[in-house]
Amino acid sequence: MAKIGFIGLGNMGGPMAANLIKGGHAVAGFDLAAASCAAAREAGVSIAGSAREVVDEADVVITMLPTGQHVLAVWQEVLPSARAGAVFVDSSTIDVESARSTHQLAGERGITALDAPVSGGVGGAKAATLTFMVGGTVAAFEQAQPILALMGRRIVHCGDAGAGQAAKICNNMIAGISMIAVAEAFTLAEKLGLSAQSLFDVASTSSGQCWSLTSYCPVPGPVPGSPANDGYKPGFATALMLKDLRLAQAAALASGATTPLGAEAAQLYALYAAAGNESQDFSGIINFLRGSPSISDPRS
Ligand code: NAD
Repeated sequence: MAKIGFIGLGNMGGPMAANLIKGGHAVAGFDLAAASCAAAREAGVSIAGSAREVVDEADVVITMLPTGQHVLAVWQEVLPSARAGAVFVDSSTIDVESARSTHQLAGERGITALDAPVSGGVGGAKAATLTFMVGGTVAAFEQAQPILALMGRRIVHCGDAGAGQAAKICNNMIAGISMIAVAEAFTLAEKLGLSAQSLFDVASTSSGQCWSLTSYCPVPGPVPGSPANDGYKPGFATALMLKDLRLAQAAALASGATTPLGAEAAQLYALYAAAGNESQDFSGIINFLRGSPSISDPRS
């Protein structure tokens, strides 16, 4: 049984910590929000009075926080209390530069670190089917792997410091761009009198095939489990897609990469979010492309 510290017990962190308890580990946790602490306590997490207390005796420390600023502030606060030999894992989705800084901060204290963002959403966090994209040394990866495996189904070592965050934002940039492409194709098909099912039957087995079409189709019907069949309830909320597209743009600017479609996708999702759709699934952007600013808009 390992001693695990978990900081950030929100929508994702709460169920992830609960799966570590189910896996037979002792988890000490901390969150600024009383409601998150109460839910985690119900699941068996021992709630500490501060983030520092969580790391005192931990073999593995996991953070699951909103942004890079939160992560850096918390790591700066708690690293001085970390015990020798501990591994620190940040599973939040944050910018690549901040992720690299966490490795540096930990290294200065002789602590090993991993950036290990996830995909799979709250459903995956609850069902322990997340995908972890991991950056850091092989030794740190091997130390944390059995713990991550209790919360996820696929654990991929992507490379050195920051490689996990890089993989996450590159993947989500593909998803954001390809969803817009698929949505545009369905809106054009509607104008041309081509049925959604016919377009799906052709494109799903032709060169237009992609995840946004075959797993997450933005119109109701062809893929029964897609959010389009459930009023565009997330799924993956537009606010989170916009966050990831902005992180991709920040990384492109910092690294000199040319990503014009990524930039356009970020702008379109920003407009869609600003029209009141932040908490709609990101595939709902098809309604925006049809000319309805919001599916809950009384004018539409
Ligand atoms: P959330 O807002 O539900 O949880 C974040 C928690 O961090 C909150 O409970 C908040 O109180 C806590 N927190 C903030 N500052 C803190 C501090 N200084 N000390 C202790 N606790 C603090 O967010 P979430 O949905 O759980 O997402 C967490 C991370 O995972 C984000 O980076 C997000 O982008 C990423 N992510 C989310 C999803 C998803 O579907 N929700 C999917 C993949 C990745």
